[in-house]
Amino acid sequence: MSVPPYKHFTQIGDPVLRRRAEEVSGDKVNSPEIKETIDCMVHVLRHYDCVGVAAPQIGVPLRIIVMEFHEGKKNQFPAEIYAERKMSTLSLAVFINPELEILNDKQHKHPEGCMSVRGYSAQVERHDRVRVKGIGMMGTPSELELEGWSARIAQHEMDHLNGIIYVDRMVVSSFACISWPQINEAKGETAIWFNK
Ligand SMILES: [Zn+2]
Repeated sequence: MSVPPYKHFTQIGDPVLRRRAEEVSGDKVNSPEIKETIDCMVHVLRHYDCVGVAAPQIGVPLRIIVMEFHEGKKNQFPAEIYAERKMSTLSLAVFINPELEILNDKQHKHPEGCMSVRGYSAQVERHDRVRVKGIGMMGTPSELELEGWSARIAQHEMDHLNGIIYVDRMVVSSFACISWPQINEAKGETAIWFNK
């Protein structure tokens, strides 16, 4: 039987995605189990080529998030989309017990997806600027101010720690299967894969 930390993404419906994740206690911060969980989160993040992972997404009900928007991802978006969504590169950031503070009233509505709702996307309104504080990679206090798409990633991952999924915040009528044109093209002979 497969036990967490998983090397795949838990999917919506899994109770682990709906409960409030627990704080990592001070004496556990530098433990081998937490290190293993973080290593697994980074592995899954890079293997699936996504930009953020929260621990419940690999089946671990703890308050840990990892985020990264590496240079190579820039080429995956047309320049105008990259600019319009205020995307920017973000070096690997790990936060244990993160707290999020909203820094301005400005909000943006853009399409958002989630590896735990595989194959779909929808418009979600998010704050433009946030500050994330928590315990960083070295087990020491860490703080980051984020803007635009990076701020969106942080808000999305923080939501996961509180049992919230983007579908709870989306513009309902914008919810879409991202491969709908290919499904028509392939006369339905296609599938959504949950591994990679
Ligand atoms: Zn997600």
